[in-house]
Amino acid sequence: MIELLIASSNAHKAEEFSELFDSKIVTVKPATKKLEVVENGLSYFENARLKAEAYYKEFKTPVLADDSGLNVQALSEELGIHSARFGGEGLTDKDRALLLLKKMEGISNRDAYFTCVLCVYLNEKEIFYFEGRMSGQVGYAYRGSGGFGYDPVFIPLEGGGELTVSELSEWKNKNSHRAVATGLAQKFFSQRS
Ligand code: IMP
Repeated sequence: MIELLIASSNAHKAEEFSELFDSKIVTVKPATKKLEVVENGLSYFENARLKAEAYYKEFKTPVLADDSGLNVQALSEELGIHSARFGGEGLTDKDRALLLLKKMEGISNRDAYFTCVLCVYLNEKEIFYFEGRMSGQVGYAYRGSGGFGYDPVFIPLEGGGELTVSELSEWKNKNSHRAVATGLAQKFFSQRS
C-alpha cells in the first residue's frame, strides 16, 4: 500500500480521489496547508509536476498532483490548460459553461475531450505520470445538475446518447478522464509492490 499527499488542501478533491482508489493499494490524504503554486507550465504534465514538486519540497512525503481541463478543437487556444480561467477572472463555473456555448454558436465542429494528468512524485528520482481522457462533443444547451465545471455542456461519446455528463453522474464516476488516470495509477502501483 502507498500513501500519497494530495497537492491541494481542497477536501473535496481528496475525497474524490479516495473514492476512486482502492485503499488496499493507494490511500490519499489532503495537505494541511495550501501552497500558492504558479501554474505557468505549457502542458498538463508541466502544471501537474509544478504542483507535485512544490508540495513534495514542503512536506517531504510522496505526493499526488493533478491537472485537468477541457480541450475543444474549434477553440484550442482558449481552453485546454487554461480551462479554469476561460473568460477571465470572476466568472462562476456556470458563466464559463454558458460562455462556451455562446462562442460555439454557428460552429459545426463540436469535437472535444477532457484530459486529466496525474503526477505521482515519490522522490526526486521517481516521478510518474498517468493520463486519462473522456471524448465527446460540446452540446447546444446547458443541461443537468450533477458534477461541476463544463459537465452540463459536454456530451460524452460513450455515454450512450444525448445526455450531458451532468445527467450521467454515476456513469462519470467510472468513466471520466479522472477515473481513467486514477485506474492507470492504481494498476501501476498494484504491480509495483
Ligand atoms: P484544475 O485541474 O483544478 O486546474 O481544473 C481545470 C478546469 O477544468 C476546472 O476548473 C474545470 O472547469 C475543468 N474541468 C476539469 N475536470 C472537469 C470535469 O470533470 N468536469 C467539468 N469540468 C472539468
